[in-house]
Amino acid sequence: MKLVYMTVIGLLVSSAVMASSWDYVSHGPATWAQLSPEYRLCADGEQQSPIDLRDGVLAEVPTLNMHYLNSVGRVVDNGHEVQWTPSENMSVSYEGADYKLLQIHIHTPSEHLREGRSFPAEAHMVHQDSSGNLLVVGVFLSQGTSSAFVDNMLRGLDRQTTTGLHPSSLLPKNKAVFRYTGSLTTPPCTEGVTWLVMQNDVSMSPSQLTTLTDLHAGNARPPQVLHDRVVLLQR
Ligand SMILES: [Zn+2]
Repeated sequence: MKLVYMTVIGLLVSSAVMASSWDYVSHGPATWAQLSPEYRLCADGEQQSPIDLRDGVLAEVPTLNMHYLNSVGRVVDNGHEVQWTPSENMSVSYEGADYKLLQIHIHTPSEHLREGRSFPAEAHMVHQDSSGNLLVVGVFLSQGTSSAFVDNMLRGLDRQTTTGLHPSSLLPKNKAVFRYTGSLTTPPCTEGVTWLVMQNDVSMSPSQLTTLTDLHAGNARPPQVLHDRVVLLQR
């Protein structure tokens, strides 16, 4: 009896461990929904991210007002991606709501596609309002000149802190966006996320890309089905 009891506990423990052990290889995107009931949207959702940003409808998309500041911060490799968390409170306002910047992380290669094209990397600037609604700004990174933002972020990785870093330095000059409603691109794949992906890419150097891909090569979920959503293309 005791043995049976212990086996049940063992199963519970191993399923709890399984639930948190998603990755991009042995427990990759195609299996996420099987790892935990909490991850079911990863398979059943109809507003999933990323997507191929194509056939956008030209529209008057509300302007994103950014109130970013220069800030020191904490940078860690969280096991899935390299992530920077600012020490200062800063936010963006969008359609009447204020969204606090929680963190910025980078996927290699990009998760979204632009007209079918993949980029070497994509940064996600994750914001949340006081009701818990999420707004993510996506930025494609191509190979070219060095990115001061990525440089500072990577240099801080060993000591887990960065010197002053300005989120705006990660953005392209022309801030026109693709806008659509999607989800987190990692478990639990929560929906209702406002996505604003920059139409124009920025660059980083080949050595910065190598450093990032040496840490995480292929931490990108494949594009998901659009279903009945519309991608808006800001003029
Ligand atoms: Zn992301």
